[in-house]
Amino acid sequence: MSNEKSAADLLKEELCFEKKHFSVQMSDEELKNADDFCEGYKDFLATAKTERECVDYMIEKAEAKGFLPFDSKKAYKAGDKVYYNNRGKSIILAVMGKKGVSEGAKIVAAHIDSPRLDLKPTPLYENSDLAYFKTHYYGGIKKYQWVAMPLSLHGVMIKKDGTSVKINIGEKKGEPKFVITDLLPHLDKEQSKRPLLEGIKGEELNILIGSRPFKSDSGSELVKLNVLKILNEKYGVTEKDFISAELELVPALEVSDIGFDRSLIGAYGHDDRVCAYPAAIAAFNVEEPEHTLISVLADKEEIGSDGNTGLNSAFMKYFIYDLAKMEGLEGRDVLSMSECLSADVNAGFDPTFPSVHDKYNCCTLNHGCVITKYTGARGKSGTSDASAEFMGKIRRILDSANVSWQIGELGAVDEGGGGTVAKYVANLNVDVVDLGVPVLSMHAPYEIVSKADVYSTYRACYEFFKS
Ligand code: MN
Ligand code: MN
Repeated sequence: MSNEKSAADLLKEELCFEKKHFSVQMSDEELKNADDFCEGYKDFLATAKTERECVDYMIEKAEAKGFLPFDSKKAYKAGDKVYYNNRGKSIILAVMGKKGVSEGAKIVAAHIDSPRLDLKPTPLYENSDLAYFKTHYYGGIKKYQWVAMPLSLHGVMIKKDGTSVKINIGEKKGEPKFVITDLLPHLDKEQSKRPLLEGIKGEELNILIGSRPFKSDSGSELVKLNVLKILNEKYGVTEKDFISAELELVPALEVSDIGFDRSLIGAYGHDDRVCAYPAAIAAFNVEEPEHTLISVLADKEEIGSDGNTGLNSAFMKYFIYDLAKMEGLEGRDVLSMSECLSADVNAGFDPTFPSVHDKYNCCTLNHGCVITKYTGARGKSGTSDASAEFMGKIRRILDSANVSWQIGELGAVDEGGGGTVAKYVANLNVDVVDLGVPVLSMHAPYEIVSKADVYSTYRACYEFFKS
């Protein structure tokens, strides 16, 4: 047999677009870089599990890199690094470019909120000598996945006098955790007839938080009272303080390599910290960009980006208006010339459930970061749908830097759908496309990503900022 390529092989190479495994593009050295990069990512995952904790983490890292709080009254010069902390729940990192924003900014937008269980405003109750929290789930979860597993409590409470107290219980070794109980299989005859999505109902997501009563000869709800006593001793709070609180329950599961080859990472909340981290690190690492770079890590994406910390609000627009004003430009002109990667995850092909994907147009783990031209549902409803021109531009940036990338559609036509922050940025007259990491078990308490894909997403953000 000859080693020479046939005419068909040669023509195929020239004309056909084939999906490539990262290993075709990544050297051993680059793969080592990917693994090293992911050790930092794993630290971030373990440390910052909520939007508030992500903001705290990023401020600390940014300040260590020389970023200073943004002051809209100041004039900045090329290379200056700033951050804008929006209410402790979303953050903008920016590095001033040599051209400033005169030709627009390069924006990477990711989100730092993840699906979880929020406490209701008056969550605490006692029933049958057990104390519980009532919850209202946040974002798209399959409720049955959240029972019978350890949960930790994160957030903030504002006390009567206006002071605030941070809560973080159940992450450190030895700390207590919390749990939602499920019915035993011996007695689930009726429950097992429910459709899967109603296997556990919203009002059944009750968190077990105590069972020992306050010692007293008389009185009712003494288990609840005892829990309040513990909380009061530890945090100085009373039951009324839950009304002015944002408390979130997340899986208390360890971030871990997955597989004998350690190629994957299992963790809660990859969506979308797996893009937020690369977006931030790229902003930290690009030195002296041509155009001002903006990395925005937003809150509220999982519930539609509404609210003043979400990207459907004006906080990013106002930030860009401020930059424009400093240079004597109109904010709207700067926005019109700006470009954005909406850095968010896509659903990786899962061979156990092949039917929900179009195999010719879905993304696959280990094939690099995924460019998603459009999301939406039922005939592209609710998406910004990137233009051919902008797709062409992004493709050229990634190819010229040898970044491993692929194309992905969010599931087969009419199988479901979803959205990202892309459309809210596009609605500001910015060119936008989604780019991010393929995920398995998206929105489950434990999600899976590939280390190689995380790294190519980082490289994509970096090269985009530099472009
Ligand atoms: Mn997302
Ligand atoms: Mn999501």
